[in-house]
Amino acid sequence: MEDATDRERVVVCVVGTRPEAVKMGPIVIRLREAAGLSVRLVSTGQHRELLNQALSDFGLEADLDLGLMRPGQSLAEVTARALTALDAAFASERPDFVLAQGDTTTVLASALAAYYRQVPFGHVEAGLRTGNPYRPFPEEKNRVVAGHLAEVHFAPTPQARLNLLREGIAGASIHVTGNPGIDALRLAAGRPVACPVELETDRMILVTAHRRESFGEPLAEVCQALRDLVDRDPRLSVVFPVHPNPAVREAVEAHLRGRPRIRLIDPVGYPGFVALMKASFLILTDSGGVQEEGPSLGKPVLVLRDETERPEAVAAGTVRLVGPHRGAIVEAVESLASDPDL
Ligand code: UDP
Repeated sequence: MEDATDRERVVVCVVGTRPEAVKMGPIVIRLREAAGLSVRLVSTGQHRELLNQALSDFGLEADLDLGLMRPGQSLAEVTARALTALDAAFASERPDFVLAQGDTTTVLASALAAYYRQVPFGHVEAGLRTGNPYRPFPEEKNRVVAGHLAEVHFAPTPQARLNLLREGIAGASIHVTGNPGIDALRLAAGRPVACPVELETDRMILVTAHRRESFGEPLAEVCQALRDLVDRDPRLSVVFPVHPNPAVREAVEAHLRGRPRIRLIDPVGYPGFVALMKASFLILTDSGGVQEEGPSLGKPVLVLRDETERPEAVAAGTVRLVGPHRGAIVEAVESLASDPDL
């Protein structure tokens, strides 16, 4: 009979969306180099296309793809399906440890499914908080709940550790590790790729916007601000890789398609996106990961949100919150564009 001490320890890493692939990529690569571990990569397929694109950028492929997405399903439906499917995956994979990153429904369901099977769960990028349950939604509470189900917390910063301690998490279970997104950036920087689009001016503004709370009027204001900016300053151009979510794509196309010096492109692979960030003059984004990557590449980042769970870069002055507000965006970009010390 197999003895539990003889077999390799099984670590199941769960991913569901593009940022999880980017941040788990370097971790999976390193775990696979470690002796005595069998590392299995499970995908919920929450954002399948973008996820698979990002995984392949790290030379990775899911060992098991649960293919959970259905058109138009509610948050409750996707959570329920993820929980059931992950429970079945854990029953067959028999993990000794489950690891997942961030704040998605995939992470929440992974933490709960692991807990039900009494398998320790490790939470990567633990302890980030805005303190507002609806900003970002549902990610803020996903991260809180996953954190309280986790046995081991990998906090990126001392501030994130403090947030966990304040919620009663035992200090001994928290490890301040830094941010694996920066490891990913270093891996990509070691393999430079050409910029995926030809720049129309020297001052290219790179834009990403896809958060649920930006849908509707906020996204319309962001698009209007981009039009104002390029209309008022011929030195400015925009490159906007548009998220495939129809709520984003339809709004962005309606406001910006065909406008001069505004390029709408499909999402690009991670190395291509790093090349775009490097080529940019500044970055406008509502993305969590891009907020961290921009400053690491020396680029100013204006965040299209009113709150952030990543206050460290704001305190350091490399990131500024402008919100999804037309006037504030235009003013902030124009003041940077006229700053000789930029
Ligand atoms: N990214 C990418 N291609 C793109 C846009 C973004 O590879 O066209 C990367 C980006 O570098 C970052 C991650 O995707 O690592 C951010 O993903 P997203 O904005 O979807 O999620 P968030 O960071 O907000 O959770």
